[in-house]
Amino acid sequence: MHKKLFIPGPVEVREDVLEKMATPMIGHRSKEASALQRRISDKLRTLFYTKEEILLSTTSGSGLMEGAVRSCTAKRAAIFSVGAFGNRWYDMARFNNVPADLYEVPWGEATLPETVDKVLSTGKYDLITITHNETSTGVMNPVEEIAEVMKKYPEVVYCLDTVSSMGGTKIEVDKLGVDICITSTQKAIGLPPGMAICSFSQKAVERAKKVPFRGLYLDLLSLYEYIQKKDYQYPSTPSLSHMFALDYQLDRILEEGLENRFKRHKEMANIVREWAKEHFEILPKEEYMSNTVTTIKNTRDIDISDLNKKLGERGFQISNGYGKLKDKTFRIAHMADLTVEDIKELLANIDDILGF
Ligand SMILES: *Cc1c(COP(=O)(O)O)cnc(C)c1O
Repeated sequence: MHKKLFIPGPVEVREDVLEKMATPMIGHRSKEASALQRRISDKLRTLFYTKEEILLSTTSGSGLMEGAVRSCTAKRAAIFSVGAFGNRWYDMARFNNVPADLYEVPWGEATLPETVDKVLSTGKYDLITITHNETSTGVMNPVEEIAEVMKKYPEVVYCLDTVSSMGGTKIEVDKLGVDICITSTQKAIGLPPGMAICSFSQKAVERAKKVPFRGLYLDLLSLYEYIQKKDYQYPSTPSLSHMFALDYQLDRILEEGLENRFKRHKEMANIVREWAKEHFEILPKEEYMSNTVTTIKNTRDIDISDLNKKLGERGFQISNGYGKLKDKTFRIAHMADLTVEDIKELLANIDDILGF
C-alpha cells in the first residue's frame, strides 16, 4: 500500500505531475529544450519574486548550496546555523577549503538580525548563508528583519536556503536582498527529488568572477555564462524529465495562485499547531514556527517508530526527529499539494492510535 507522505521531503507528488516525468525525451541541444528552460525560468522568477537569473542544477538542493559557498566566497563566509542543514553548509565550506566561520544557536532557536549585524560589522566576511526554514527544528527565520540589517552590508553576498519553504510561503527574493536563493524540487514545490533551483544576482555574478577556483560541475558562474551564451541550455545533460514536470507543476502552482497557495499552507500549519499544543508542545517559539513543517516535542514520551508503523498500516507516514532530536521530537510536514482535509485525516488517525 502506498503511504501518503507527511514527511518534509520527498513529498507526496500528484499523479498528473508524476506522469509528466514520463514524457518522451528531446535532445538537450534542441530549440525545444531552450524554450522549455526559458519557460521554466520565467515562471520561477514569478514564484521567487525576482528579476534575476534562474539556474537549474541536476543535483538535489545540496548541490547548489555547495556551489554557492564555493563559487562566491572571495574572502570568508559567515555560516549562520539553526540546525542540521545550517551545519551541513558549514561542512560544505570546510571540505571545499573555503574559509568560513560557524555561528550556531541551540536547536529550536532562530538566527537573530542583531547577531548577523554584529558578525558582519567585523568586516571579516564577504558572504553569508542563512537557513530560511530549518527542517530539523521547524524554525522559520525572521528574514524580513535580517533583510533590514543586510542593507548596511552591500558588499556581502547573501545566500538563503529555502529548500523546504519555497513554494509554501512567500519569499520575496529581490525585496529581501537575497543574491542566491536555493531550493529543490522535492519539498514545497511538489515534484520528485533530483533537481535544484536557485536565483543568481548580478552581485553574485561579479563576485564569482573574483574567485579563481570555483570547481567545475557546480560552478555557478559557468552555469550562468553558459545559459546566456547558449540560449538557456546547460553545459551537461540536465534531467529533462524533471524539467517537463516542473514546467507543468509551475503552471498548476500559478493557477492555484501564489497567495492562495501560501494561505493553504498557513491553514494546514495552524491546524497542526493547534493539535500539537493540545497534546504536546512545539519546539520553536510561536514567532519562529515554520509554515511548512512542525517539529513537536515528544512530551508524552510516545514510541514514535511504533506510531509511524501503525500509521503506515493505515497509509500515512510522518517523520521522526532529525539527528540528535530523534525520538525527542517528531515532525509533521504540511507542504506542497497536501490539503487541509489530508491534514485533518492524518491527525484523526493519530488521535485514534494514541487514544486521544
Ligand atoms: C532537505 C533540505 C536540504 C537538503 O536538500 P536536498 O535537496 O536533500 O539536497 C537543505 N536544507 C534544508 C532546509 C532542507 O530541508
